[in-house]
Amino acid sequence: MNIILLGPPGAGKGTQASRLERERGMVQISTGDLLRAAVKSGSEIGKLADGIMKAGKLFPDDLMSQILGDRLDQPDTAGGVIFDGYPRTAAQADKLDALLAERGKSLDHVIELEVDEDALVDRITGRFTCARCGAGYHDRFKLPKEAGVCDVCGSEEFKRRPDDNEETVRTRMAEYRAKTAPILPLYEARGLVSRVDGMADIDEVTAAIEAILDGR
Ligand SMILES: [Zn+2]
Repeated sequence: MNIILLGPPGAGKGTQASRLERERGMVQISTGDLLRAAVKSGSEIGKLADGIMKAGKLFPDDLMSQILGDRLDQPDTAGGVIFDGYPRTAAQADKLDALLAERGKSLDHVIELEVDEDALVDRITGRFTCARCGAGYHDRFKLPKEAGVCDVCGSEEFKRRPDDNEETVRTRMAEYRAKTAPILPLYEARGLVSRVDGMADIDEVTAAIEAILDGR
């Protein structure tokens, strides 16, 4: 079972991917991680990649598919692959099909974790944590029992992350839509796309993904 997992920041993609790795023996392949690993390894491809990235040039598809193909040849991909960050374009989607077909594999599902943008803004902008013990709170969904005092450790100091603001969330959503716009319609046309409510409880999201993978 090979899938593409899509979802904007805040949809819980990382959490769900780790669960699929742990519970199903799948492996997540992030092209960003692959590139960084190639550069770090100092291989010929890595040196080439490093030069291209330092020059700020677009990474050539052929080189990317070579790196991806090498990764797909590793035995740990037998349990299935979760593609992350790839493909981004129609050309890359074709390359991915070819890479999988060469190895007797295919793409089985494209799963998108959907979020309601306004609800995501509410969820993220209300977050704060205890400055001492890190306990998590929320302006609307989870205030400390006694105002201004941490339930866990009694501290009266709290902090908020500077990028937990509406503008950042909306910018990230727009970037996500721009990135997925070129490929979603292609996979829709092939009937591969399933959508899961990323705003639901983490366990519910996992159950929904499992149901898709098991064809239930
Ligand atoms: Zn605390």
